[in-house]
Amino acid sequence: MKTGESTSRDRTGALPVLVAVLAVLGATAWMSWGDTGDLAVGSLGGPVAALAAAVGTYRVSRSPRADPQVRGFWRLWAYSSGFLALCAVGATVGAVRGHPGMPVYEAVPALFCLSAAGLAFRHVALTRRTLSDWARLLLDGAAVAIAGALLFGYAVVNLAPPGTPLPDRWAAGAVGVGCLLGMVVFGKAAVSPGTRVDPGALGILALSLLIGLIEVMLMLSGTRLSAVLVTALGYPLIALAFCTAAYRQARVLDGRTAPARPRWSLADWLQYLAVACTAGLVITVSAQDLGLRGRAVIAGAVLIAAIIVARQLLSLRENRLALIDIRHRQAELRRLALSDSLTGLPNRTGFSVALAERLEAGLPASALLIDIDDFKMVNDTLGPAAADQLLVQVAQRLQESCGADESAARLGGDEFAVLLPVDDPAAAEAAATRVQRTVGRPVTSADQQFLLHASVGIAVAAPGETADEVLRNADIAMYAAKESGKASWARFEPRMRQDMTNHARLAGELHDGIAGGELRLLYQPVYDLVTGRLHGAEALVRWQHPSRGFVSPGEFIPVAERSGLIVPLGAWVLREACTQLSRWRQAHPNAIEAVNVNVAVRQLREAGFVDEVAAVLSDTGLMPNNLILEVTESSVVDGWQVRETLQALHEMGVRLALDDFGTGQSSLSLLRAFPVDVLKLDKSFVDGIADGEDRGRLAVAAAVAQLAEHLQLKAVAEGIESQEQMDRLRDMGYRYGQGFYMAKPLPADECGALMAPAPVDQVR
Ligand code: C2E
Ligand code: MG
Ligand code: MG
Repeated sequence: MKTGESTSRDRTGALPVLVAVLAVLGATAWMSWGDTGDLAVGSLGGPVAALAAAVGTYRVSRSPRADPQVRGFWRLWAYSSGFLALCAVGATVGAVRGHPGMPVYEAVPALFCLSAAGLAFRHVALTRRTLSDWARLLLDGAAVAIAGALLFGYAVVNLAPPGTPLPDRWAAGAVGVGCLLGMVVFGKAAVSPGTRVDPGALGILALSLLIGLIEVMLMLSGTRLSAVLVTALGYPLIALAFCTAAYRQARVLDGRTAPARPRWSLADWLQYLAVACTAGLVITVSAQDLGLRGRAVIAGAVLIAAIIVARQLLSLRENRLALIDIRHRQAELRRLALSDSLTGLPNRTGFSVALAERLEAGLPASALLIDIDDFKMVNDTLGPAAADQLLVQVAQRLQESCGADESAARLGGDEFAVLLPVDDPAAAEAAATRVQRTVGRPVTSADQQFLLHASVGIAVAAPGETADEVLRNADIAMYAAKESGKASWARFEPRMRQDMTNHARLAGELHDGIAGGELRLLYQPVYDLVTGRLHGAEALVRWQHPSRGFVSPGEFIPVAERSGLIVPLGAWVLREACTQLSRWRQAHPNAIEAVNVNVAVRQLREAGFVDEVAAVLSDTGLMPNNLILEVTESSVVDGWQVRETLQALHEMGVRLALDDFGTGQSSLSLLRAFPVDVLKLDKSFVDGIADGEDRGRLAVAAAVAQLAEHLQLKAVAEGIESQEQMDRLRDMGYRYGQGFYMAKPLPADECGALMAPAPVDQVR
């Protein structure tokens, strides 16, 4: 399908060339066998080929692969081709009317044609020209123009047939000088390094101007044969050169032809040739008027000038070689600065530059930001060298999966990106799914197979957005994807930025809140459902914000986890809860044995967590069995580091509870591998347990109770809100429970009051 497409593009791209070739062949045939008296027929090929050239050059100026400068260049050549067509018509009219030389109505469009080409020259250079560049260009141009003017001035006077009107002579002379100047300028550009436009195309365009120059000379001679040659064959030939140059440029842009390497060629010598011609002219003219001594002086002066020019040429050549070397080094440095040394893909800067170029050209673009999930774990398990191997494999796959005009990059660490040439959200989402599948195929490193997953953020560039903004949006979307449970993609929406800002602000305030003592702990009693006695208490953190008021943990715990603030926050909770238990145990002989403290995975990943727990226990005079740490199932499967921490805590004698059980992986192998003491059935299974409507949830609740019994774990039901729920759970085998029905989370003194020695039956 793709090859079919590109072939058809290829064919239509070559069509203008084909038309111009036919025009040239037609003209040749007409001149060989046709009726050369009927010039109107014979010169038909000129306008036709020129129009084909206009189409060909215009097509290149619309190419999405070209940068704005290259497009501007070819647009001006399209205008130039239009004027060429008018010029060809003018030539035909002139020839039919038997006008000697070049009539004004041919010369004027020719001058416009040359002016448009001259303007196009602005777009050729790769870098912005400096003032001295322009000055040099002006001097070179002036030298050629003066030489040309002298030559043509002389030729116009001498060669033009008598009776040619003066305006015609001067107009033709001006066209000749313009052709000469254009030929030198484009010829020089074709051989100088650092052009945006393909040097091969520039060389062909310079050739077209040479043809123009020869035409003007022929026209000036004013013979019938030269008029026939120019009108019938000259214009189709010039147009053919335009078409070929445009076709070549299109192929270079499509990557089907390598850009031409600038070579030292005849074009570089043209300016000196012009000087030599002028010198020849001076000698010829002076030879007629001067004596022998005068001629010797003139010849000597010209010789000295020639020696100086030769000397200059030598140093120019050296400069040029040095310049080429510098350009090579610059290109190499640029390549190194824009690519990633590990994978060879473009790096963050390279990606930004490519994205910025598309956006500046007004082309559609979307960015996919890809982050490998839990790569830290892989890194920890494998070591950095083997993990790098995996990254190289991911990079290769991403690159292979990229279609035409798409490109992959490594932004750093385990973060990759893909640039898409689309602005359609559905297409970008399809590409994100494809990327996830690509990353999700098993990879091998150090003889181990791994299954990686990626979270992908999608940002479709909106009009006027910069590359930085698009990347930032993709980054925000990627975080949203991670939050929605990893191994997924999310497309950027403006509200995400708002969420991000809110989170950042909240994190800042939380940071101050922790330091400023705005956190409080409440304790939710845990009851023995059989005896009705108070059994334990879970410490639950609250944030009393000075202006926002009470902020729920559901809102600030995720913020704390993402910002890392959970580490100091959790440390405070642990110490505060243990201190409180120690106070209760001193005040009440019947005080609860242990306090439950929630611990986030970020805390478990901290290297010194086990020591911290030991220090808190010893500082507060508690034993390890006075503490139950509640962890979620997802944190248990986080990696070997967390597993080792949990094992060490278990060996120390601290008990571990699996919180929100039933909502995560809940695998049996997890229970065997992990030193768990308590299972806390999630509230969602308790809801609706009394009316028995949700049979599935009921079955899970019963199974968890049985599992706990077999494995000799404590089963605790969370979120009990009614007598019926409590009764059903007790009947199922739940020995312990907590919930608003028995008690809401309470301030420390209220919870302590429940431990008073009076006989209590707290369960209603
Ligand atoms: P969790 O550990 O599962 O805590 C139980 C949550 O259920 C608490 O919400 C508690 O107030 C609520 N709850 C208890 N009984 C009932 C009931 O009968 N009905 C209803 N509707 N809710 C009940 P809370 O205090 O808002 O805490 C929410 C979550 O925030 C906790 O879930 C825990 O994951 C996290 N969290 C709270 N404090 C801390 C902490 O100190 N450290 C960490 N890492 N996480 C904490
Ligand atoms: Mg909990
Ligand atoms: Mg829970």
